[in-house]
Amino acid sequence: MMKERILISACLLGLHCRYDGGHQKISGTERLEEAFTLIPICPEQAGGLSTPRIPCELQNDAIQILDGKGRVLNRNNEDCTDMFIKGASEALFLTDLFQIKKALLKEGSPSCGSSGVYDGTFSGTCKPGEGITTCLLRKHGIQVYNENQTDELI
Ligand code: SF4
Repeated sequence: MMKERILISACLLGLHCRYDGGHQKISGTERLEEAFTLIPICPEQAGGLSTPRIPCELQNDAIQILDGKGRVLNRNNEDCTDMFIKGASEALFLTDLFQIKKALLKEGSPSCGSSGVYDGTFSGTCKPGEGITTCLLRKHGIQVYNENQTDELI
């Protein structure tokens, strides 16, 4: 029987796509692989940002940014909004292509976060919220889980 396909943040599988060139590999990926066919993406790379890259934070809620009413800035105050939106669109494209209904995305990221993001001040302060990719996927009915919810997902 064909396994269900899920989208997954590439850094959670060990790809070195984080802003600092590192990864966020989680333990237990074997269990995920048994249960699902994993389709990895790093939305920030897919949107055209380099690795390593200057870290970015949302200056408004993701939904506002997607509506053209807010911005994503990097720590040097450069506007990266278009790249974040492009990365989210690429993730959505993959969910269409592979008929994906669920995603497992890295918590806290300005792209992939699902319940918390940094607050835009570059002070290491988190606040409730979601990343741009998560927001766009949810708008299209995709269920988004984070790496602390793998038991729930499986
Ligand atoms: S954008 Fe998502 S997949 Fe890429 S490094 Fe950040 S958390 Fe990982």
